[in-house]
Amino acid sequence: SIPLGYFGGIGAASRHGILFKGSVFLDLVTQLKTVVMDKTGTLTKGTFMVQEVKPVGIERHELAQLTAALESKSTHPIATAILEYAERGDAQSGFVPITDQAHPYESYSIHDVEEIPGHGLKGTVEGKTMLAGNAKLLRRFQISFDEALTKIPYTIVMTALDGKFAGYFTIADEIKFDAAGVITRLKNEGIRTVMLSGDKSAVVEEVARQVGVDEWHGDLLPEDKVAQVERLMKTLKSDPKAKLAFVGDGVNDAPVVALADVGIAMGGLGSDATVETADVVIQNDEPAKIALAIAIGRATRRIVW
Ligand code: ADP
Ligand code: MG
Repeated sequence: SIPLGYFGGIGAASRHGILFKGSVFLDLVTQLKTVVMDKTGTLTKGTFMVQEVKPVGIERHELAQLTAALESKSTHPIATAILEYAERGDAQSGFVPITDQAHPYESYSIHDVEEIPGHGLKGTVEGKTMLAGNAKLLRRFQISFDEALTKIPYTIVMTALDGKFAGYFTIADEIKFDAAGVITRLKNEGIRTVMLSGDKSAVVEEVARQVGVDEWHGDLLPEDKVAQVERLMKTLKSDPKAKLAFVGDGVNDAPVVALADVGIAMGGLGSDATVETADVVIQNDEPAKIALAIAIGRATRRIVW
């Protein structure tokens, strides 16, 4: 028979928007020694905003609209930010889109778009070969750019047109209000906190400093995140009771969510692969719910035993 306490625990958790997909996970969260988190969308809001645009050898509106055309084929939060910029312009630099069409890029001819995970996009827009993405993407296609851009603690999307650097977008995200608080709580419970991200290391380092994680790694490809989690799980092997959780939101996070002893998905929007694979789903976006899930696991244990 299933102890009543588990129903109580699962019920209490669900009232707080935390879905445990089985009572075993109420136990496992009490054994966590390491909590690994994704950055974008987990510790930061994941709603990027274009801060600055630097066109090189091209008009600003042209750079914005061509890049938006390519990004219109992506659902990445970075793509959303660039589309919004191209549609609305920005008051600060006085940039106004020179068309009254809501989605000017929709009339563009866009072909052969390929999303390269952890890099960005490649495709053909208006007959021009285009790239929009990070330093890794431009290096891969031997496009030269100012290496100083990699040191700026902002996400930078660089655009190349017909094999030439054509400028960049500086994009910023915000840290969630309760991110630093939950890291402190986890650390106080003797849990090692680790942040992993595909974003550039200069950005990841700055977020790590502000939220106070014990360990962080940036510039990771999806397969690098898997390798990092495997390594961290190996370090816990000597104690069979010590468990690791991974908390993430994006589609790219599904493999690590599956690999972790406890896979936690944030911002459960229903159908997404990460929510599907997760053992625990946090239905809103609050990192504080990670600590609450652990607290509910502890309280349930006290009732059951
Ligand atoms: P994470 O979710 O860990 O932050 P992602 O793998 O989603 O990382 O993205 C890693 C990096 O790849 C981004 O920070 C960005 O530089 C680049 N990138 C990914 N998708 C796009 C896109 N659609 N347009 C431009 N750059 C992108
Ligand atoms: Mg992500």
